[in-house]
Amino acid sequence: MLSQEPAINSCNHPEDNLKKVGIIHSTESFGAVDGPGIRFLIFLQGCRMRCRYCHNPDTWALGEGQQKTVKELLDKAERYRTYWGSKGGITVSGGEALLQPEFVTALFEESHRRGIHTALDTAGEPFSKQEPAFSTFQRLIDSTDLVLLDIKHIDPAAHKSLTGHDNQKILDFARYLSEKKVPVWIRYVLVPGINDDRETLIKTRTFLDSLTNIEQVDILPYHTLGVYKWEELGYTYTLQGVNPPDEETMQKARNILIKNEEAAG
Ligand code: SF4
Repeated sequence: MLSQEPAINSCNHPEDNLKKVGIIHSTESFGAVDGPGIRFLIFLQGCRMRCRYCHNPDTWALGEGQQKTVKELLDKAERYRTYWGSKGGITVSGGEALLQPEFVTALFEESHRRGIHTALDTAGEPFSKQEPAFSTFQRLIDSTDLVLLDIKHIDPAAHKSLTGHDNQKILDFARYLSEKKVPVWIRYVLVPGINDDRETLIKTRTFLDSLTNIEQVDILPYHTLGVYKWEELGYTYTLQGVNPPDEETMQKARNILIKNEEAAG
């Protein structure tokens, strides 16, 4: 069973890191869109959010998944190292990677010992500035080269309606990463009728402008490719009838979130 809250991490000896066990959903050998270059992707099992558009609901369940050690995963990843070039490396995603912060810390510390670039793909929901969790997150971020951070909705109530949680901890995490000067790529899934209106996009842009570490903003069109998984798992998909955004809607969002044209007006 995965722990619900991160615990104090007491040891970071390389030998201990190698033996640390994570609960894994799956791996992919050649990721091309989850960080710079070609990357080995590790999807962790477990997520507490319930995003209505999630295309991986099979990663939600806590207490499922395969147990793998840091050594097993990195030895496998390094078989593909020749394809990574100067930019690639590993990306840990989910599910929600921050539900296993001690494991990801051990994985990233050992990756750095081997000279491997580390990226963390997260929605940020487990983040907390309360101890003992905060010390664990600090150590994890110290060994993270890049964070791919999802911003799902800037309004707390709308965020709760879309994901089951408000966004306070996620925005706190974004501010913390800015204080720590950790490079961040923002990911924003554009869902027509949910988070594509001008006011929401301008508020989001204003928040991003308050941060000092955003290297890139990616707007991803909502899609329905994972709906079959909801059906297979017996879950009710509540965005039935919502269509992917058209190019004009995508461009309007880019103009605000990336180019800042409308926000300036
Ligand atoms: S945070 Fe990610 S894995 Fe979790 S429900 Fe949302 S989209 Fe799915």
